[in-house]
Amino acid sequence: MRACVDIGGTKLAVSLAAPGSRQLLHRRAEPTEKRGAPDAVARQILRLLGEACAEAGMGLDRISGVGVSSCGPFVVRAGGIEVSTPNICGGLAGADQGLPNDWTAFPLEAPLRAHFGAGVPLRVENDCVAALEAERRWGALQGVDDCAYLTWSTGIGMGLCVGGRVLRGKNGNAGHGGHTFASGPAEGPTCGCGNVGDLESLVSGTAMARRFGAQGFADATTLLGAAKAGNARAGAIVDELCRILGRGLFNVIALLDLQAVSLGGSVFWHHREHLLPRLQAEVAAHLPALTRGVELRPAGLRDAVGDFAALALLE
Ligand SMILES: [Zn+2]
Repeated sequence: MRACVDIGGTKLAVSLAAPGSRQLLHRRAEPTEKRGAPDAVARQILRLLGEACAEAGMGLDRISGVGVSSCGPFVVRAGGIEVSTPNICGGLAGADQGLPNDWTAFPLEAPLRAHFGAGVPLRVENDCVAALEAERRWGALQGVDDCAYLTWSTGIGMGLCVGGRVLRGKNGNAGHGGHTFASGPAEGPTCGCGNVGDLESLVSGTAMARRFGAQGFADATTLLGAAKAGNARAGAIVDELCRILGRGLFNVIALLDLQAVSLGGSVFWHHREHLLPRLQAEVAAHLPALTRGVELRPAGLRDAVGDFAALALLE
């Protein structure tokens, strides 16, 4: 059996899959551990995998490969990839975020490597890089060598592929497009990462609630529901959000000369009929030599992209 691990800011999930199978078995999910020492998350992963293996009637030592899809960013220390994200690490987010720890990063690759040993393949990737691999293997990006995956959810993230090669970068952080700037230095709200006016601070699900709650749109679902129902104020806000994210997509398409982008994430997925044409129109409005024929596609794995992301790292 291979082990699949999905680490999010809120939830941590593990499952098992037989070689050659896409069926995820013996799934376990819990709130991501945020108390105790920084190795608490790695110990939680091993405990949940132990439970899944027990249910499968086998020992943890029978795991033949481990794929880990994790929220980022990553930092690389001597022992391997550590995760340094303000959604889990209280030492980054500041006391006002109320996280019960003072971590600035938690170890991931080293404790898993120490447990499973050098003989078991272990691959740790950013969740959007892993989602891109899943979309390229089973979803809307099959056979497309120059492509990207974009998630529009509580945050904004991307996975990038050029010439058939998935981009990782020096620390595995390639594709952190949510934290690229979309407005000038003195404009816009502040992102959880500290940037003022980056894409995530302007258009993410979290940003929608923060920016438009006072106007009666408590969250992304309320705002998009009102826009689709014909509320003019909500409609104008959503059009502007699509203009901003569409320009962000154009930037990536122009930088990498992409053929297609697959889109997922809860905000996009639940409102894709409304959002997709607006994003496509914004992309197509600029520099036809770069954007003609470029397709924005709903994720082929639909709202299960995340479930298959870790598995795609193992095939
Ligand atoms: Zn940011």
